[in-house]
Amino acid sequence: MKITEHIKNANGKTLFSFEILPPIKGQSIQSIFNAIDPLMEFNPPFIDVTYLREDYIYKQHPNGLLEKVAYRKRPSTVATCAAIINKYKVDAVPHLICGGFTKEETENALIDLQFLGIDNVLVLRGDARKSDSSFIPTPGGHAYASDLLQHVVNMNNGRYLHEDMENSERTDFCIGVAGYPEKHFESPNLDTDFKYLKMKVDLGADFIVTQMFFDNSKYKAFVDRCRANGIHIPIIPGLKPLTGSKQLVSLPKTFHLDIPLELSEAVLACKSEQEVREVGIEWMIHQCKELIAMGAPVLHFYTMGNPNPTKRIIQAVF
Ligand code: FAD
Repeated sequence: MKITEHIKNANGKTLFSFEILPPIKGQSIQSIFNAIDPLMEFNPPFIDVTYLREDYIYKQHPNGLLEKVAYRKRPSTVATCAAIINKYKVDAVPHLICGGFTKEETENALIDLQFLGIDNVLVLRGDARKSDSSFIPTPGGHAYASDLLQHVVNMNNGRYLHEDMENSERTDFCIGVAGYPEKHFESPNLDTDFKYLKMKVDLGADFIVTQMFFDNSKYKAFVDRCRANGIHIPIIPGLKPLTGSKQLVSLPKTFHLDIPLELSEAVLACKSEQEVREVGIEWMIHQCKELIAMGAPVLHFYTMGNPNPTKRIIQAVF
C-alpha cells in the first residue's frame, strides 16, 4: 500500500515506522531480522531500507602494488526489501539514489521493484563516496534527486527511456523525497534549499521525510513554511535518539544539525555513557509526545541497526 494511503487510513493518528541498513556483505539476512523483530509489536506499516553507494578500496597484491577497486559494503537493498515483505507482510520502502547508477540501471531497478510489488520509493541524490570530497554523479546517471524523481514520474506516466510506446505499462510508485529543516549542508541558505524542495514537490513528490533534528521548533518552522508555500503533502519527521557522548560532535558533523543547549549540557553533566543514553532516550520521548500533539503523520526512526533505544521510546510514547 502507498504511504499516503497508510497515513490517510490512520485518520489523524500518528503512525510509527523505521529505517534499517541492508546487511554488510557476507552477513546473513538474519542480522536484519534480529534488528526488526523487537519493533514489530508496534505494527509499523512500512520499513525503509537505505541504499549505500559503492566506494573505493585499495587491494594489496603479493608484489606490493596497490589496486583501486570499487566495493559496495551493503549491496542488497532490493533483496532486503523483498525479504521484509515476505517475512513480515508489511511494506518495504527502498531508498533509490542517483550515485552509482546510470539512468538505464535505475530504470531496470524500478522495473524490478514494480514486479516485486513494491509501491513506494524514497528518491535521493545519495551521499558522496568517502573517497571523494563532494558528490560526483555517475557518468550517464542522475545528478540531483529531482532528476531521479522526474524519471520515476515519467515511468508512472508510461514513459520509459528510449521508448515512447503508447501501450507501455505505467508504474504506480508513491514517491518520497528528503527535506532538511536545518538546511542541506551544501546549500548556500535555507531559501535556496527550500526552492529545490519545492521543485521536487511540484514535479510530483508524494511525501517528505526529514533529516533528523533534536529541536521540534525547527520541524514546526519547516512544516509551516511548506504549508505557507503550497506544499500540502505529508511531512514525516525523521528521528534518532542521542545514544553516546561522542554524538555531540559526530551528529552535527555528519548531519549538519544543531543540538539544543539544554540537551548538550545534560549530556556533558552525565557521569557515564549509560546515563547519556538515558538522557538521550528521555529527550526523544519528550520530542515524540510533542510531535504527536503537533499532528506529525508518522514518527520515523533511524535505528542504525540498534532497535533497543527506539523500542524504549515507542513503548513510552504510544
Ligand atoms: P537533492 O535534493 O538533489 O539536493 C542536494 C543538494 O543540491 C542540496 O543542497 C539542494 O539544495 C541542491 N539542489 C537540489 N536540486 C538542485 C538543482 N536542480 N540544481 C542545483 N542545486 C540543486 N544517502 C544515501 O546515500 N543513502 C540513503 O539511503 C539515504 N537515505 C536518506 C534518507 C533521508 C530521509 C535523508 C534526509 C537523507 C538520506 N540520505 C541517504 C542522505 C542524502 O542522500 C544526502 O543528504 C544528500 O547529500 C542529498 O540528498 P537529496 O536527495 O536531499 O539531494
